[in-house]
Amino acid sequence: MELWQQLLKQSVSSVDQLVDKFGIKREVAEQLDDFFQARINPYYLSLIRYPGDPIWRQAVPDQVELEDLDAPEDPLHEDDMSPVPNITHRYPDRALLLTTSQCGLYCRFCTRKRKVGDSNKINIRELESAFQYLEQHTEISDVILSGGDPLMMTDAMLEKILIRLRQIPHIQIIRLGTKMPCVLPQRITPELCNMIKKYHPIYVNTHFNHPWEITPESKKACEMLADAGVPVGCQTVLLKGVNDDPEVMKELMKKLLAIRVKPYYIYQADLTKGANHFRTPLEVGLEIIDKLRGHISGLAVPHFVIDAPGGGGKIPLLPEYVLARSKEKIILRNFKNEVFEYPDVQEDHPLLKKGRSIEKRYTRKKPAKKKIPLPVLDEA
Ligand code: SF4
Repeated sequence: MELWQQLLKQSVSSVDQLVDKFGIKREVAEQLDDFFQARINPYYLSLIRYPGDPIWRQAVPDQVELEDLDAPEDPLHEDDMSPVPNITHRYPDRALLLTTSQCGLYCRFCTRKRKVGDSNKINIRELESAFQYLEQHTEISDVILSGGDPLMMTDAMLEKILIRLRQIPHIQIIRLGTKMPCVLPQRITPELCNMIKKYHPIYVNTHFNHPWEITPESKKACEMLADAGVPVGCQTVLLKGVNDDPEVMKELMKKLLAIRVKPYYIYQADLTKGANHFRTPLEVGLEIIDKLRGHISGLAVPHFVIDAPGGGGKIPLLPEYVLARSKEKIILRNFKNEVFEYPDVQEDHPLLKKGRSIEKRYTRKKPAKKKIPLPVLDEA
């Protein structure tokens, strides 16, 4: 058994362990276990510095989860967009392939609790219909292996899936959505890296939420992936009591970049069962981006997005940089709140008149715009 598998076996997961280790009342621990089981491996457990700290909050079950069980189970409507088992096809040229229900840590804020934990929740035997769907849909050029965590599979199992995907000519990009570099970095072994690099282009989207998660072990894991030619990006979730502070996010983003991980998204926390205590007002995310953009390298500034409830996909949110705009000019502010005026291009400008008209150069046939009616907001 490999080291990462041994560590997994030693995870805190039973009701007895929750009672002994974290002082949760037995009755509550039983209900929490029933709702969404715990799995805290010894590596991630060792990152906890004190009860209730940002690592604890992400991993240790909390009674408050049982208070908002009315929230949706599938807030992003992934199941509605699942034409065959194990596939979610939301965007035109990309598809999600669910490969396992297992994760190296069960995050308390997880948006996919309905798919994660119990091994019956994702049936790996049903993968063939998913492969056939991918074969038939030639518009799909990018497949994201997710779950669960695809790196919970053995190297041999993962390789079988990669081989099968590489037999489909229109699939160019394969992405692995994995939290392992953060929660169980021992999973990133030389053998895994050597196997993965045979199937390039492979990208990894990982998931760090707090600077304390950047350790010598996670640094080594991310660097090994980068050395194997795998670009690694990070999807962070904005979580109350974990990283809802511009200084914490700044430190995290800079540290990620230093271990060769590109910050990619900060997600507003989804409206999901048992996780509303993690949600923050939108203003918090906007303020974080405002404190990052211009203050640290642009490479370290991710997009702040809402994954729209109901399956609308990711929608970016930006602080207000445009103060006013007319046909002639735009009034902007920069990261220091200094105001600038930028003249827009005028069609009758003498230089532009010399060539083709601006209309001919820049106007392409556009599809007729659908008018989207604005909802009437209730002021009460
Ligand atoms: S690793 Fe991802 S899928 Fe697994 S519990 Fe955490 S957030 Fe959910």
